[in-house]
Amino acid sequence: MASWAVLNEQVVWISQLATGFTIVCERCVELGEGFPSVQETLSLEHTRGTMSCPRGHEIRIERDGR
Ligand SMILES: [Zn+2]
Repeated sequence: MASWAVLNEQVVWISQLATGFTIVCERCVELGEGFPSVQETLSLEHTRGTMSCPRGHEIRIERDGR
C-alpha cells in the first residue's frame, strides 16, 4: 500500500559534515524488534541517500545545511 509507505517514510537528518553515522530504525522499534542500529556512511559530495535496515525498511538520509 503506497500511501502507508509514504506516510511512514523514515527520514534521518545528518549534520553537514557527517560522513559516518548510526541510525536506529524506528519501524523496527515500533514493531518491537528491539533497537537495530545501522551503521552507514555518506560521502560529503552527496546531500542525500537511501538505505535499508537489516529487516528491509527503507530509510532516507538527508544532509543538513547547504
Ligand atoms: Zn527496520
